[in-house]
Amino acid sequence: MHVKTISGLDKLIFDNRFVKELPADLETKNYRRQVMKSCYSYVLPAQVKEPTLVAYSKEMAKELGISHDDCSSKQFTNVFVGNEFLSGMKPYAMCYGGHQFGNWAGQLGDGRAINLGEIVNQREQRWALQLKGAGATPYSRNADGLAVLRSSVREFLCSEAMFHLGIPTTRALSLVLTGEHVVRDMFYNGNPQTERGAVVCRVAPSFIRFGSFQIFTSRGEIDVLRQLVDFTIRTDFPHLVKNDLKLDKQSYIEWFTEICTTTAEMVVHWQRVGFVHGVMNTDNMSILGLTIDYGPYGWLDDYDPDWTPNTTDADERRYRYSQQPEIALWNLLQLANAIYPLVEEEDPFQRALTTYNQHFNQEWQSMMAQKLGLKQFSVENDGGLFKELLTLLPEVEIDMTIFYRKLANINFQNEGLTDKQLIEPLVDAWYRFEAVSDDYQSRFVNWLRKYTERLRNEDASPEERKKRMNTVNPKYILRNYLSQLAIDKADKGDFSMVNELLEVMSFPYDEQLEKEEYAKKRPDWARNKAGCSQLSCSS
Ligand code: AMP
Ligand code: MG
Repeated sequence: MHVKTISGLDKLIFDNRFVKELPADLETKNYRRQVMKSCYSYVLPAQVKEPTLVAYSKEMAKELGISHDDCSSKQFTNVFVGNEFLSGMKPYAMCYGGHQFGNWAGQLGDGRAINLGEIVNQREQRWALQLKGAGATPYSRNADGLAVLRSSVREFLCSEAMFHLGIPTTRALSLVLTGEHVVRDMFYNGNPQTERGAVVCRVAPSFIRFGSFQIFTSRGEIDVLRQLVDFTIRTDFPHLVKNDLKLDKQSYIEWFTEICTTTAEMVVHWQRVGFVHGVMNTDNMSILGLTIDYGPYGWLDDYDPDWTPNTTDADERRYRYSQQPEIALWNLLQLANAIYPLVEEEDPFQRALTTYNQHFNQEWQSMMAQKLGLKQFSVENDGGLFKELLTLLPEVEIDMTIFYRKLANINFQNEGLTDKQLIEPLVDAWYRFEAVSDDYQSRFVNWLRKYTERLRNEDASPEERKKRMNTVNPKYILRNYLSQLAIDKADKGDFSMVNELLEVMSFPYDEQLEKEEYAKKRPDWARNKAGCSQLSCSS
């Protein structure tokens, strides 16, 4: 008798609360349409010819209770490309809308993301699994529902890099090549190319976005809006549910206030590491304050607050680095408008939005103090120090990550240093130090003198201070050009650099002496190269 062994994957427990408790689209045929009065549509992933596993995240697998052996199995590749189902899976695509670049865009939805279901792990944590690039859904509009290797490598690596940097984010379990081809016109300039198709399995406690609520309000479907709000609070914000289990206006406001807070914290983290999301549309804002939808994102190399990697946004630069905090607030205002029908009072929303500003400012100042290695700080005394530095940094190309990392090496105890000796530990951070003017250098040194004097007023040893600074100023970030090098190799069938970057970015605050090359400044060839400094939404 043949006894089928039960693999670790078969033991995953799906509870699928989202589909169990929320209204489904009654149409089950898979064609593009407007889906009314429903939170999702049932849809199956497309079957692919020849899937190959490129990489997986050990940490994410462990979190889900999937062993290393299970990840190496053919079944794992098949399941996480969408070719095979585990018992309990109930695939669906979510309905949502959104403001894109400031304009209401109507229904968007999971056009190329298919949720497999939600599992509950041994620690009773809920994780939704979602395949990105697994084929068309009712929300695919005029697109194909697929994803190419380059954008999938970027999403996979960045999700995990952000996690290890300690930044709230959706996660990535796996990256699988489909063995099929996808046609993309990368810069929308009449040059379509055939690219390799891929599927990333994304993981998060919830994939609900600001736009998930907006769609119902925009259509006047307030009963569904209420169902989704109540579901979200009960599932993901259980601490807001009172003893009598009833949700009321007060609960909705407390909930919204918490979203303001978590969103503020997420953006402070982005500003800390120089992450530019690139497409902060309201459909790309997670209700849990997670970084979501890794598309044309980028990392600041030289500190340029006006920079955005997204070529689609090149003129207006709506989503540039310096404007991210303001855009998050604008998005929260759109969310407030969406929830308003459940509260019908403006003042509490205004107060919550004020909380965003207050919380953001407070967290931002404390983050800046930590980046500079200050133990205590006061806005009155230290505000000027931050401001002066942030005026100096964009003037001459200086690498943001290297600058803050090296700042920990400044000699602040010896008051008798010459200008040259004082600035020496930082010289490598400038892209062309030899071209830096005398005037700029002397203003910089002037700032350093104020800064070191400030440090001398604190009771901290250089070693202790350095240790502290190294926990907030990463040495390794997923520089745009590094991803591009890994993509170029992966395109030729060599996945080694994808896996190498995954490993290096798992310890972004450690020295990793043998990995110095990944901590270097952007090389000159990458300055204006597609994929390295400029990215389109095409993916
Ligand atoms: P994004 O810019 O990735 O946030 O996508 C905006 C909307 O377009 C979402 O509804 C996506 O699901 C959808 N979308 C993006 N790319 C594709 C694609 N290749 N096929 C179908 N829908 C897509
Ligand atoms: Mg999106």
